[in-house]
Amino acid sequence: MIKIQNHINGKYREPLKQKYLDNYNPSKGEVYSLIADSDEEDVAMAVEFAKSALPEWKVLPDEKRFKILNRVAELIDENQNKLAEAESTDQGKPLYVARAEINRAAQNFRFFATAAMQFASESHNMAGYAVNYTLKTPIGVVGCISPWNLPLYLFTWKIAPALATGNCVVAKPSEITPMTAYLLGELCNEAGMPPGVLNIVHGLGPKVGSALVSHPGIKAISFTGGTATGKNIAATAAPMFKKLSLELGGKNPNIIFADCDLDKAVHTTVRSSFQNQGEICLCGSRIFVERSLYEDFKQKFVEQIKKLKVGPALDPDTKVGAIVSKMHFEKILSYIELAKEEGGNLIAGGNIVKPDGHENGWYIEPTLIENLPYTCRTNQEEIFGPVVSITPFDTVEEVLKMANSTEYGLACSIWTENLSKAHRVAAEIESGIVWINCWLLRDLRTPFGGVKQSGVGREGGWYAMNFFTEAKNVCVKL
Ligand code: NAD
Repeated sequence: MIKIQNHINGKYREPLKQKYLDNYNPSKGEVYSLIADSDEEDVAMAVEFAKSALPEWKVLPDEKRFKILNRVAELIDENQNKLAEAESTDQGKPLYVARAEINRAAQNFRFFATAAMQFASESHNMAGYAVNYTLKTPIGVVGCISPWNLPLYLFTWKIAPALATGNCVVAKPSEITPMTAYLLGELCNEAGMPPGVLNIVHGLGPKVGSALVSHPGIKAISFTGGTATGKNIAATAAPMFKKLSLELGGKNPNIIFADCDLDKAVHTTVRSSFQNQGEICLCGSRIFVERSLYEDFKQKFVEQIKKLKVGPALDPDTKVGAIVSKMHFEKILSYIELAKEEGGNLIAGGNIVKPDGHENGWYIEPTLIENLPYTCRTNQEEIFGPVVSITPFDTVEEVLKMANSTEYGLACSIWTENLSKAHRVAAEIESGIVWINCWLLRDLRTPFGGVKQSGVGREGGWYAMNFFTEAKNVCVKL
């Protein structure tokens, strides 16, 4: 059985206490590999090696750094099939989804490698008697912590800008989906990344993650994960005055107006509800439909979701894969029960699926629920699975009130052919990202992040490059 080890100072290493955890294949519900159960001593060792690598890495000419990071991108592309199969097996996501995500992981490296070559400082001229210039310097050794839903995609989204700006990194992927981060270690070596520049420590969040957050040698933390974990991290990191970027949970609304292009709205809303089993922070989990379109939309939506084949991740016909873990599977099922208690009407799905030969895997049908008040727990709390609610509305004011009623504010989709209405709702919706007549269309230069309890800070483009650098103003009297 494969042992997923830490990658520290350019070498795969056993955790110092030589303890391992079970790693599951969700499609089968079986242990298929072991993962390093590291602790604060492994983190401390990784930080020391990262510190030793820093003096050379931070002054490496931009072009050399570009070449190494760009080579990592090429190697991810060259290993696309191997990485996509590994991701599907480890996470439960269908192969077609994993392929797209591995492609994006390569894009993340390529994008930030290129950004390293273009990142310039500003100059502020004071009418002939002084000039200021801004030095942007790496922070030092930084920590990156990522979740299980889009494993390599989100891992690389953090480490690529951190490395591109000249920092050394100690990174912790989710203990639930460690495989592709493990495989990335050898690709980084092959790309010529100097030892100690990127260190990957595996293990449990409350052990490895919190050791990383509280280590005085780590100067900034970029975290993506749940809101409760984010609060915990902020409570430790803030008194230590660490720079923090927090990308947290969501409860995203899809707002469908009667004047939308119905077929496109249905097609994309099916994707935004159930892609990756609904385990994407950007998935829409509350569908609001203008009353005159409500029945038509619902009928077409149900027709479409009944066609989605639920099955093992590696089956090429699978559209909805396995839920990532038994614990998460049970959490989602408990929300389906809660929805029934709260008066919800199950219009589609709601059942466990047991595909032939994979009866012990964790599968749930795409589920649509109506008749729930917008204030109930099912409509307020993040479920993070293939479960969505549908609610009619009559006016713009009413839908804004319902859409903005949660503690979250990550993303929103608006469907209408009326431009003025689209822009008005986009301006008034409380969220960091708004898609009009689309979903998950991403330009990596744009700000990415949430408001309210969906996060603090923005990633993407110069936002990420600025996060991972300190700006120093130098003022010269002429
Ligand atoms: P999680 O918070 O349980 O874990 C995320 C990471 O944090 C894991 O690596 C975990 O080991 C680590 N961790 C756990 N406890 C920790 C602690 N005390 N200190 C430091 N690190 C700790 O989240 P998850 O269940 O892996 O992911 C699902 C959540 O992530 C959902 O809420 C989802 O919305 C959110 N998410 C947000 C975005 C975004 O961009 N806003 C993207 C993807 C996922």
